[in-house]
Amino acid sequence: MALTFHRQPLFQATVAPGAKGSGRHRLPRPALGADGGPSVGVPLMGAAVLGAGFCRSQARTARTSKQSKGLNGRGSQVQMFVVNNEISETTSDVHVDSDSADQLVRYMGGNVVVRAVCATELVRKVIGMHKCSPMAGIALGRALLATILLANGRDEGESLQLRIQGDGPIGSIITEASSALTVRGMVGNPAADAPSVPELVGVGSASTLRLTRTHPYWKRPYTGTIGLKCGEIAEDVVQYLGMSEQTPASMGLSVEWDSEAGCIKQAEGWLVTLLPGWDEAEVSVVETNINTFDRMESSGSSRPHDICKHMMRELRGEYQAEQKPTFRCKCSKSRLATAVMMLGKTEVLKILRDKETIEAQCDWCGSPLSLTPEEEVTVGDKGHIIILGAGLVGSLCAVVLLKKGFKVHLYERYQDIRSIPSTGRSINLSVTSRGLRAIKALGGSLYDDIVQNLTTKVMGRIIHMPDGKVLFQRYGKDNTEHNYSVSRIELNKFLLNAAADAGAELHFDHALVESSDFKDHRDVGAELHFRTKNGDLRVNAACPVIACDGAGSRARYALGRSGLTEFSEDLLTRGYKEVLFPKPENPEGFGAKGEDGGEPCDGRFGLHIWPRGDHMLMALANRDGSFTGTFYMDNEGEESFASFSDTPEGRAKCSDFCQKHYSEAIPLVGGLDSLVNQIVQNPTGLLGTVRTSKWAVKGKVLLIGDSCHAMVPFFGQGCNCGFEDTLWLSRLVDEFCCDEGQANLEKCTGDNFAKCFAAVEAARKPSADAICDMALENFVEMRDKTGDAKFQVMKKIENRLENVFPSKFRSRYAMVCYGGEGNVSYANAKELGVVQWQILEKLWDIAGGVSHEQVDTIDMQEAEKLIDLLLNASQCATPTF
Ligand SMILES: Cc1cc2nc3c(=O)[nH]c(=O)nc-3n(C[C@H](O)[C@H](O)[C@H](O)COP(=O)(O)OP(=O)(O)OC[C@H]3O[C@@H](n4cnc5c(N)ncnc54)[C@H](O)[C@@H]3O)c2cc1C
Repeated sequence: MALTFHRQPLFQATVAPGAKGSGRHRLPRPALGADGGPSVGVPLMGAAVLGAGFCRSQARTARTSKQSKGLNGRGSQVQMFVVNNEISETTSDVHVDSDSADQLVRYMGGNVVVRAVCATELVRKVIGMHKCSPMAGIALGRALLATILLANGRDEGESLQLRIQGDGPIGSIITEASSALTVRGMVGNPAADAPSVPELVGVGSASTLRLTRTHPYWKRPYTGTIGLKCGEIAEDVVQYLGMSEQTPASMGLSVEWDSEAGCIKQAEGWLVTLLPGWDEAEVSVVETNINTFDRMESSGSSRPHDICKHMMRELRGEYQAEQKPTFRCKCSKSRLATAVMMLGKTEVLKILRDKETIEAQCDWCGSPLSLTPEEEVTVGDKGHIIILGAGLVGSLCAVVLLKKGFKVHLYERYQDIRSIPSTGRSINLSVTSRGLRAIKALGGSLYDDIVQNLTTKVMGRIIHMPDGKVLFQRYGKDNTEHNYSVSRIELNKFLLNAAADAGAELHFDHALVESSDFKDHRDVGAELHFRTKNGDLRVNAACPVIACDGAGSRARYALGRSGLTEFSEDLLTRGYKEVLFPKPENPEGFGAKGEDGGEPCDGRFGLHIWPRGDHMLMALANRDGSFTGTFYMDNEGEESFASFSDTPEGRAKCSDFCQKHYSEAIPLVGGLDSLVNQIVQNPTGLLGTVRTSKWAVKGKVLLIGDSCHAMVPFFGQGCNCGFEDTLWLSRLVDEFCCDEGQANLEKCTGDNFAKCFAAVEAARKPSADAICDMALENFVEMRDKTGDAKFQVMKKIENRLENVFPSKFRSRYAMVCYGGEGNVSYANAKELGVVQWQILEKLWDIAGGVSHEQVDTIDMQEAEKLIDLLLNASQCATPTF
């Protein structure tokens, strides 16, 4: 199929003075095609091309005013429900058309980025919902395509709203898309008709195109507005990109109407953008590709790939990512409730007094919504347990309790992560045998399935020094002691599947709120308040609650509010960003060669660290051979994530920084542009430590995992510690509430759960406190000391002691990671670690300092004496698996 994209007259614009590639460009002007009307089989298309971009203006930022349209102001009958500025709120009415062929792909080559999308099914669905006339459908379809193209690659959580306000018969066209490419749209007058899209839109003196960007972490939305130029949507959007975002761009949008079938036949679009640093040669190649696009031949494979490959001809562009656009409407009872509140106090009180049901219809999707005064349910009984949070710990906990015969009700604030298409981005966790032991202890095939299907081995740290040297620091005494690298989202999906298979009752889109009440006089039970997609829900919990709702735990906040616990949240001034490394050509990758007397290590089996003092880069292998890296640095300051903004200045600064500090890593990440793009575009994650004074309240609630002890990730123990919490909970539930590992209803009393929860807290809190401290210490070790010559030699001496005295000496690292049951707790490891370091310091002093090569000359008799004198040998048994 060869669709012809109709292009509008081309722009000519000036480049920012001094910018690379400055000059004037006029892209070739193709013949103007006629914009088809809703006639039989005529492709109706619109596109615009803007040369190397060249419009410059300051984006206007303004807070969008809260608007609520259509409330009739008289009480119970609400005709329409639109709250336009709330586009970032998460709700859950997701309709994932997993079978649809809709797809967006992105390629990048040099400083050119190309996105192409096919969204026929999505556009057809939205147009069908609004019963649009053919021309209104085409206009809305183009706006949807444009918004999808603009939303791809934005910060996670960011949402865009495109509003085209002309003075033509269609009224306004509003479309929204999130960075996850969930999309919706509507038009003021779906039945409107005109011979062409520009006539339908109508360009008057006050006509505007407005793009509003929101993000949950931003204090306010950012809005850019330009005057409408021609009513061709692609052309106006390109105009906007040039003027408001200083991004040179070219866009083509094609929506073809099949008048026989009375619906959309094909909806496709592309967006070509130039990154700062582009040069004349690149622009001229991409212009040629754009102009020969009409003659593009399809290879028969997915069309977005074909489009990108065409646009990338002679630019050696590479495939970067793909996403699936899906329709999603965010209408919900809680939004309806918000709109109702705007009726005013008297009106709302009357509704409540008369117990009226409020009915409304969503303008975006046409769904009917109704609001009844309050929803309340009772959940649980003897033998039931409520778990809050379906993350790693909550899902594992559910599996453990279900196997014991408990009925588990699992509440999670987000939608089911198993139904979210993977965007290729997820933290890689280092999982150690301490954490895996908990999983193994469950029996069955869970442990083998995880290790065999989800993990890769990690033998030690591979340190990439600023001078280019690459060193290997083994974790354990030999290859039998190693860690595993696993994708957090894949592990979470796996555990959630296991919980679902074991019979957990799953409630997604249920966000616990802080007003929940654990204070009443009962031994067991609480009042849980959830925000759901259908409004607020009050759950009278008639069973114990286990809160695994992560670092920002609302259960912890609720307990804190009622004085049932105290907690601190210490945020690091450093944050992190994900950086993806494509699979290296050499499968052994960027390993240590052992050239400086150290051991060699295959790059696939190391935790790579580029320690650079105030910042560092780390990377762990994925099973497909690629690596997921994490870049840590200050959030604010001269050299910080904040200073590396996605602007020409921010990019230039970031580029200089990367070349100065990470030149060896640049080729591994796919080049400087790829590294800079990822740093400026990926969202910044927060890091911090949570300490909680009391984890348990009677038999009502127990906090475990990050909800009571979130830690910085520098010992790679957060989830290991949470898994170990689960193992202890499992043991103590067995002891107090079960017979032979199965729930005994007679023992499931408030008193027994209270004892069980208190015992978990007593067993785990000292260890959690210790690992939180050690994780902070390891931050300094990884950031500063891994690059320190003396520290490296000390690590080698430590490794030698472990090998010579395997039953007497285990490094602190090994005790933390491998020394679980029957060996040492985190609290013991912390204490013993201090003594061990004293031994290493003494040996260093006795030898008068040693080099790497001289480590073998350390006096082992002296070492043994020190170990016997200072360390308790009973703590040094070999791990049990
Ligand atoms: C950059 C980074 C690297 C890391 N590396 C490692 C590593 O190498 N090794 C390691 O062991 N650990 C690591 N961790 C830590 C690890 O990710 C966490 O310790 C682990 O995910 C904690 O599991 P959890 O289930 O307690 O909390 P989470 O994984 O945060 O899960 C909490 C769940 O509760 C849900 N929830 C939250 N609020 C509510 C609410 N109000 N109502 C209902 N549900 C709610 C959330 O949506 C989520 O599903 C790392 C963390 C970071 C940030």
